[in-house]
Amino acid sequence: MKIKLRPYHPTWVLCYFADQSIAKEDHNKKGFDFVIKTLCEHPGAEIELVREFDDVCSRCAKLKPNPAGSVWGDGRSCASSDNPKTVRQVHESNDWTLSTLGLKYGSTIKWMELVRLLKEKMPEIRDPMIGGPDNQGRYEKGLALCLKSQPFARM
Ligand code: SF4
Repeated sequence: MKIKLRPYHPTWVLCYFADQSIAKEDHNKKGFDFVIKTLCEHPGAEIELVREFDDVCSRCAKLKPNPAGSVWGDGRSCASSDNPKTVRQVHESNDWTLSTLGLKYGSTIKWMELVRLLKEKMPEIRDPMIGGPDNQGRYEKGLALCLKSQPFARM
């Protein structure tokens, strides 16, 4: 089992795992619910870090068919991919995350290995694109839940 995630999304997975009430941005709640359910049901699932629309995006209410495609994929676009400023911010956050973790686009890594890397190399999520200060507590709680208890610790 492999889950595709963009580099700025794993920190959000942990925040959602710790507190699913933060899903005020309902457009991508289904995507994070899918990722968390899949990780719970498939111990040992791997994460592939991708540049294009991922398994969160593919369930996002803002994703729409677009014959012209977009910067993140053929045949689809969303409000973010149509906004040059957001595209730049996403790419900057992705590049920072990948270099901080020592990974690259196309890297595949077991979820629990990724969680350990995040705890070691990214203890803080100051960039709003990856969660921001408002979600620091949720992030830490998600890390702790995964590392010491159920259900992700089974992986
Ligand atoms: S990048 Fe676009 S499709 Fe992906 S979660 Fe954000 S708004 Fe949705």
